[in-house]
Amino acid sequence: MAADQPTVLVVEDEAAQREVLSYNLESEGFRVARAENGEEALMLLDEEHPDIIVLDWMLPNVSGIEVCRQIKTRPETRNVPIIMLSARSEEVDRVRGLETGADDYVVKPYSVVELMARVKAQLRRTRPAAAGLRLEYEDIVLDSETHRVTRSGSLLKLGPTEFRLLTTFMEKPGRVWSREQLLDRVWGRDIYVDTRTVDVHIGRLRKALCQNGGGDPLRTVRGAGYALG
Ligand code: CA
Repeated sequence: MAADQPTVLVVEDEAAQREVLSYNLESEGFRVARAENGEEALMLLDEEHPDIIVLDWMLPNVSGIEVCRQIKTRPETRNVPIIMLSARSEEVDRVRGLETGADDYVVKPYSVVELMARVKAQLRRTRPAAAGLRLEYEDIVLDSETHRVTRSGSLLKLGPTEFRLLTTFMEKPGRVWSREQLLDRVWGRDIYVDTRTVDVHIGRLRKALCQNGGGDPLRTVRGAGYALG
């Protein structure tokens, strides 16, 4: 399983609904973290770093709206897209009116196909490579469907790890990634890899990017990590 597959946090108190939804998301290639209430969802945020959250409106204790509000208030989770599920369209109107910051709304019973389309639409914005798109940075073009990378039109030879590293960088040019964050994203959180391994693969990526000439687009940020541009 690819370590860079997007993680979806599913928050739903009804076990059967939670499982059907999780199963469908996993079939589409997502990693799924499950929460059965709002407290658990808020706790899992820090552990799982989800790329998107599918959040039921009707939850015991802390309501979906309150969970949504809290996620959108915290600076570190503010940009994680949230799709709210609700049983009635009037509830959706109310969520909109409350300006909780949810990014999309789906009324139950929903069609699985529609929900998957909504999830992918949100990810296209936050995780473009995961949605099968072309990423461009200056003269570098990465096609996440064909796994081809070109620089100034010439094809580059990249190993699978270097490809995933480059994908991570190209999704957020300018962002500084620490070695630990790159390990989580590229190697996966369940695998023990020494942080020096990251440096080795960064070296290989730099070499690969310059194999047909051109400057080194990767920047070493002392004490912090690496960034593209
Ligand atoms: Ca519910």
